[in-house]
Amino acid sequence: MNNSSPRVQRANRDRPVVIVGGGVIGLCTAYYLAAENLAVEVVERQTIGSGASWGNAGWVCASHSAPVPSPGFIGYAARSLGRPESPLYLRPRPDPGFLAWMWRFWRSSTPSRFENGYRAVAELNRPTFGLFEELAASGVDTTLQRPGLVHAFLTGEHARHYLEVQRQMAVGRYAMPTEPATGPAAQALDPALSGRVQAGYLVNGEGVLDPGAFVKALREHLASSGVKIHENTEVTGFAGPPGRTEAVMTSQGEISCRDVVIASGVRSTGLLGHLGLQVRMQAGKGYSFAVDLPAPPRHALYFGERRVVASPIAETTRIAGTMELSGNNNRLDWRRIVAVARASRHYLGDWFEDPDDLMARIRDPWVGGRPLTADGLPVIDRSPLHRNVYVATGHGMLGIALGPATGRSLADFVATGRRPDVLAPFGFQRLSR
Ligand SMILES: Cc1cc2nc3c(=O)[nH]c(=O)nc-3n(C[C@H](O)[C@H](O)[C@H](O)COP(=O)(O)OP(=O)(O)OC[C@H]3O[C@@H](n4cnc5c(N)ncnc54)[C@H](O)[C@@H]3O)c2cc1C
Repeated sequence: MNNSSPRVQRANRDRPVVIVGGGVIGLCTAYYLAAENLAVEVVERQTIGSGASWGNAGWVCASHSAPVPSPGFIGYAARSLGRPESPLYLRPRPDPGFLAWMWRFWRSSTPSRFENGYRAVAELNRPTFGLFEELAASGVDTTLQRPGLVHAFLTGEHARHYLEVQRQMAVGRYAMPTEPATGPAAQALDPALSGRVQAGYLVNGEGVLDPGAFVKALREHLASSGVKIHENTEVTGFAGPPGRTEAVMTSQGEISCRDVVIASGVRSTGLLGHLGLQVRMQAGKGYSFAVDLPAPPRHALYFGERRVVASPIAETTRIAGTMELSGNNNRLDWRRIVAVARASRHYLGDWFEDPDDLMARIRDPWVGGRPLTADGLPVIDRSPLHRNVYVATGHGMLGIALGPATGRSLADFVATGRRPDVLAPFGFQRLSR
């Protein structure tokens, strides 16, 4: 049959765009595709939000939106080896895929690559707060608040260094304070901060949301807009002639499609492999838990030296942190929960005495795999091998913040066939260099 016949064109238009993955990236993409009046179906192997999009720290901010590979990171990783308390935990493995990823990660850690990556992410992130406002106006309860973000440090030296780096990155983009507050003025930045905090500064306007509630709200909105959502349905493969995918194979049968968007978090690598595409990713495993503190934070808090964060979420405090590179699995290592809790005490005061008490003191211990590409940038592009397969993954530490901007740009690409300029740095071609 001639593919350009009006019948086929009509059939293609009526078929859905199938999104593989019901995390924040897949759901935001579904939202904007539905807004383009395209039929959309989301396929999720477990339940909506069951991946990294659930128990994370919920930050939506400009001042912490940088790629993970950065100058000094590899030295920092080397110093962390064998230190279970360290914010970075690396379990070296003789896996060629992991070694190739590490090699590329190291090459991406130069100042110039970091700056290029940072600029690209900042550009993608530029409309973020406006997009969240539009989502709320259309009836999605995003839960986003903008209380600002306090950076807290145990020494003035660290605070000044960190602020200087952030001020350089902020130029022309957002306002940063000129000097850190010190001593009691630093502790007064937020009621949760302890007397051990020696310096800190507030970045106004930065946001935090409840990520689980946000993905649930997106799900409800999509369902009421006619988007079909298949939960407990795993995508296992794809069917179609070379260069085109006509159907998505799932554990519950086949779904014919107009286009496919792979937004499957760390598992995207395996699915893309079925399509002959190589996108190396590692799960940057992070942990979180909830705790009711006597003086809960009013802002999002960043604990500089220990790289742990605290977020006011759903009437309680969520403490989150660590970057564990120990394979693409979802195993929760309780020692990492203890390490995060211990690190937080430097900044929040002694909210527990003995790690053995933690089990009773905290709720909802959680682990999630941040989808980390080796250059720290997401891949948001059309497959170079297929006319109708798109990818949106690899958002690392920034998927909640970048979800709406990613979804909108990618939906534009799918609907028009033209790649928006803002997506140029996130293409496949850079991965083969
Ligand atoms: C501790 C921690 C704190 C974080 N804090 C923040 C933060 O403050 N701000 C921020 O912006 N980001 C943060 N992040 C990062 C953020 O959580 C991720 O970038 C984001 O959730 C990635 O979303 P995703 O949709 O790509 O992946 P996921 O949420 O993992 O979604 C992918 C989905 O695809 C499904 N799937 C996989 N394979 C298949 C298949 N074959 N068939 C069907 N479905 C499939 C999975 O089940 C999963 O639900 C944090 C992460 C962690 C771990």
